[in-house]
Amino acid sequence: MTERKLKILVVDDCPEDREVVRRYLADERFRLQEVATAEAGLRLLASEPFDCVLVDYELPDASGVQFLDEIPAYGRPAVVMVTGRGDEQTAVRSLKGGAQDYLVKGDFTRTRLERVVDAAVEMVAMRREIDGRRKELEQFAATTAHDLKAPLRRIGSLCQMVLNDAVECLEGESAENLRLIRDEVERMSRFVEDVLQLSVIVGTQSAREPVDLGRLLVDLEDAFRPALAEVGGELVHRGLPTVEGDRLLLRRLFQNLIDNAIKYRSERPLRIEIDAARGEQGWLVSVRDTGQGIPADSLERIFEMFCRLHGDCTAPGVGLGLTICQRVVERHRGRIWVESTPGAGSAFRVWLPSGEALS
Ligand code: ADP
Repeated sequence: MTERKLKILVVDDCPEDREVVRRYLADERFRLQEVATAEAGLRLLASEPFDCVLVDYELPDASGVQFLDEIPAYGRPAVVMVTGRGDEQTAVRSLKGGAQDYLVKGDFTRTRLERVVDAAVEMVAMRREIDGRRKELEQFAATTAHDLKAPLRRIGSLCQMVLNDAVECLEGESAENLRLIRDEVERMSRFVEDVLQLSVIVGTQSAREPVDLGRLLVDLEDAFRPALAEVGGELVHRGLPTVEGDRLLLRRLFQNLIDNAIKYRSERPLRIEIDAARGEQGWLVSVRDTGQGIPADSLERIFEMFCRLHGDCTAPGVGLGLTICQRVVERHRGRIWVESTPGAGSAFRVWLPSGEALS
């Protein structure tokens, strides 16, 4: 069986550098196409699929990172950035911008080039598979939730009707059992609502408008005032920017993070602090709390669907709040992660790129 050749696009305005790549990737496993500008590269990517793009960081009509930003719309091939010698910052920026790897000009061998291209292509294939499975799972959950919604609502209202009309006629523990059924139905309904909310975020187009996060937090502060008063907690926010995004989705993001900070508080007084730092290409918004914290081995897992660490606690929830947060941030082409010290508190970091189109 003949293996399919890997299609490589080389975007570089320097003929000598293209020549080096051509010589090194002369192996019959590869099929090369070359262009000298970002514009020509993007045009080609829009018209046919490639497995990997080798892109020079300094193109005549765009920087490598600008080029990277444009690529996702065209089906995301693997990207290897080719940078100048001693330019580690550029390399880091490229990796953060979505490149799989980088090579330093004049400093790579045939073997290294082949290895980097192969690994980058494999990495993207794996990511596609994971994304595909995730979508399948979310689709399945959405369909199930949709089918459960109406019968659950009906069971809930029937329980309530019996409780309203016939509670005196019920004997023994029946009334209490009926209340328990009603509460469980309510919990399941919340679960169904969260799953549906998730599918709405994943499946629909987002709005794009300037969103004043300071204003949004003032609204949320009002909404959370009773809950904060009940637990004696305080919410402080300062220096929040106006970002480009979907107001409702961003509201949901901060609402879930604040809600969690309250739910997973500790014995210590609860203080939730939200602030932002400007980065070169966007904003890093931090939501810190003085809660229970999260063990180091669960910092990534908590964003997965249905993951709950405090399984035995009475806090309401089904393990979808942070998955929703992650999808909202992904919609804004940002990133969310958490840093935490168990027993001291957590800091949820939300990176929102500035001036970005929503994906
Ligand atoms: P839920 O709150 O419905 O369980 P989430 O997806 O919002 O689901 O959170 C997943 C899990 O992560 C929670 O069950 C909890 O164990 C943990 N977690 C989330 N936020 C915090 C926080 N601020 N402090 C400590 N643990 C947290």
